[in-house]
Amino acid sequence: METKKSQKTLLIPALSGLLLSLLLGLAYYSYTQHERILMLLQERNFFLLEVASSTDLRVAEAQSASSTIAALTLERDDLIAKLEQEETKNEAFERQIKKISGTVGRLDKLSKTDEELLQKYSKVYFLNENYIPSRLKTIDSAFLAAGRKEQYFHADALPYLEDMLKDAKADGVNLTVVSAYRSFETQAELKGAYLQSYGSGANTFSADQGYSEHQLGTTLDFSTPDLDGSLGGFGGTEAYAWLKEHAHEYGFTLSYPEGNSYYVYEPWHWRFVGEDLASDLRRADASFYDWDQRKIDEYLIKIFD
Ligand SMILES: [Zn+2]
Repeated sequence: METKKSQKTLLIPALSGLLLSLLLGLAYYSYTQHERILMLLQERNFFLLEVASSTDLRVAEAQSASSTIAALTLERDDLIAKLEQEETKNEAFERQIKKISGTVGRLDKLSKTDEELLQKYSKVYFLNENYIPSRLKTIDSAFLAAGRKEQYFHADALPYLEDMLKDAKADGVNLTVVSAYRSFETQAELKGAYLQSYGSGANTFSADQGYSEHQLGTTLDFSTPDLDGSLGGFGGTEAYAWLKEHAHEYGFTLSYPEGNSYYVYEPWHWRFVGEDLASDLRRADASFYDWDQRKIDEYLIKIFD
């Protein structure tokens, strides 16, 4: 009994000690585990914070970058718009310059073109006695009517005349020049001669000196070898028929056609007015003196084109 009791007495503290140490062990274990978990938690939080902050940073960077891009895009669009505006302005300016230089060129060309060349003459409006064409050239003597002395023609219109005479010849038509440029004095002498031969009747077929188209240097009288260089009867010749058909192609027009109310019929008398005007007159079946002077003036700039 005594032994049992002492055994019990010994056993209890031992067990208690074991239990205590077990408890302590457990407590320690759980403590260390707890610490570890805490540490892990801290680490995780730290990591999360780091991730979060770096993400924020990137988002912020991205946002600022995109707003920078947006601002740059706006600026670029603005510059493009300004550039386009400048280009439009430049183009308009260029057009204006071209227009101005075109007008200047036109005016320059017009100022160098003798406006008398397309002037209608009458007893009211006539050519000044001192008028002399800017440049005269002799017509090739091969084209002159037999027995005619040197004849002069306006230098700028001469190539058209020679082309016409050559082409007529190629068509088997012999056109000869009886009279081309006549000065005021020549015209006066001629008028005197006509007056001597025909008396006052000369007024109906020879223009008074001072308003003859011959003084321009762009007008001439034709004949053919068949007529022996005379003017009468020219209206019935093949040469006249050829001129009626083709003269406009070379810029020539019949000043006083049959039935005109302006002057006596002169089938031999042709005036250079330029291809455009001559062709338009023919199309309209009109004569030079039928048209208004202002309408005729529009053709002056292209008379030698
Ligand atoms: Zn004439």
